[in-house]
Amino acid sequence: MKISVFDIPEEGLNIELNETPKIDGVIIVDSFKAILRIEKNGREVFVKGVVSGDVELQCSRCLKDFNMPIRSMVELIYHPIEELNKEELVELKRDEMDVDFYREGLIDTEDIIRDQILLNIPMKPLCSEDCKGICPHCGSDLNRSNCECEVKEIDPRMAVLQSLLRRMRKDG
Ligand SMILES: [Zn+2]
Ligand SMILES: [Zn+2]
Repeated sequence: MKISVFDIPEEGLNIELNETPKIDGVIIVDSFKAILRIEKNGREVFVKGVVSGDVELQCSRCLKDFNMPIRSMVELIYHPIEELNKEELVELKRDEMDVDFYREGLIDTEDIIRDQILLNIPMKPLCSEDCKGICPHCGSDLNRSNCECEVKEIDPRMAVLQSLLRRMRKDG
């Protein structure tokens, strides 16, 4: 949804919408919901609210697809793009809100949702904090069953200890 800055009334706007932004490599389950409060002060526009929905990600350990819910607070301050590089912006740095820019008097809510999704997707997604992943030898899913390989493999710390013991026996 594109919101025209000129159409934002004095008392502000409350909007609720569903959108499915296109993002490369991200599968959106259903659509994302945004509940936003939009206010204007001169050419400055304030957007506050919450964006929520589910994305489907692939676990970086077990390679299974899983749904991750995202719920993100939005707190943005918009300025017209023409103000970019002007001195006025130095002032903005004191503010803790995120600064964004609108073009041709339009704010696209799809961009807001897209940004929130991208901000919340982890670099290494995990289906669960303690996902055991797949066995590097036989490829079986260790969350479902333990494979034989795991037993044969020796903990590197144990290996050091074993060689130490062997040496001690030889010396003694
Ligand atoms: Zn996993
Ligand atoms: Zn295995």
